[in-house]
Amino acid sequence: MNEKLTDEILAKYYVEKFPMDYFMSFVGLSNFQNREFGFVVGDNRFVRNISFSNTDKLKDFMVQNSVQHAYVGAVYDKPPSRENPIQRIKWKAREFIYDIDIDEYDLVRTCGCHGDVYCKDCWSLVQEAASFIDKTMKEDFGFKEVIWFFSGRRGVHGWVMDKITHDFDQAQRVAILNYLTFIHDEKRSQSIEEIPNEAKPLRNRIYALVAKAYLDRATPESLKELGISTRKANEIVARIKTFENFDHNDYNILIPNDTIIRRKLSSEFILQRYPRIDRKVTMDTRRVSRMPYSIHGKTGQIAIVIKDIDNFYPDSAPTVWDTMM
Ligand SMILES: [Zn+2]
Repeated sequence: MNEKLTDEILAKYYVEKFPMDYFMSFVGLSNFQNREFGFVVGDNRFVRNISFSNTDKLKDFMVQNSVQHAYVGAVYDKPPSRENPIQRIKWKAREFIYDIDIDEYDLVRTCGCHGDVYCKDCWSLVQEAASFIDKTMKEDFGFKEVIWFFSGRRGVHGWVMDKITHDFDQAQRVAILNYLTFIHDEKRSQSIEEIPNEAKPLRNRIYALVAKAYLDRATPESLKELGISTRKANEIVARIKTFENFDHNDYNILIPNDTIIRRKLSSEFILQRYPRIDRKVTMDTRRVSRMPYSIHGKTGQIAIVIKDIDNFYPDSAPTVWDTMM
């Protein structure tokens, strides 16, 4: 961020530029007054249990309170407020959300980046994760629409828009999450589950996307460390980039038919390139998450819709200053 995010620029954005109608197309008008909002205001104070009777009042709040970060939460049976905090009212609905942050990959990033820092090389992990989850939601679960938003700093949020998911309770969300999970205890033991033969679409997608991305970056040396012969390692590296639509059949032909090698290789590509999802965000139905098109108070960037995740790089997202030009 090269300029200071002043109260004036924040207010000016929410008065003149914030696309309220577009924002409302994501959160829906029904039950708007029962929707929880949360904000980081002024000198870093986090306030939540706030709701608005209409969008003008939401806008007025953001204009008047020097909002550094804005978050939207679940819908309840009555308007959340200080008198009726969310713990004391009945939960009704919430979008089904995935959160992918680049710092979740710190243990396996080899480019030298860590924390909030990213480069084109490691950002591809976030892009691959979003594509993988997007396809899995649509092809394996039959959901119609997932919208991806830039989080404003170092990651992306995927919102499943299908109404049926909004009623999912925590157990249902966890069940879907578990179907997708292959790395356990991500920050420590990082134990890797075997790819299941029963879940065929998922298994095939892992080979087509995750194994392919890993093999595209493999060297003969890295493959030899997994027990693959020199001749075969050279062949894999030479041939992998020639496939147009790499799938599990290609994988079976290309990789030696040796159980131990295959187990080592699949553990390795899952460890290195499989999606790392922030589980708490998906599970916790009462959590608030960044409001689409709000400003990220640390970067000044806007949490825009990502139309094409394969070609989206965070530096290309507009800042609040860009919107004023
Ligand atoms: Zn990097």
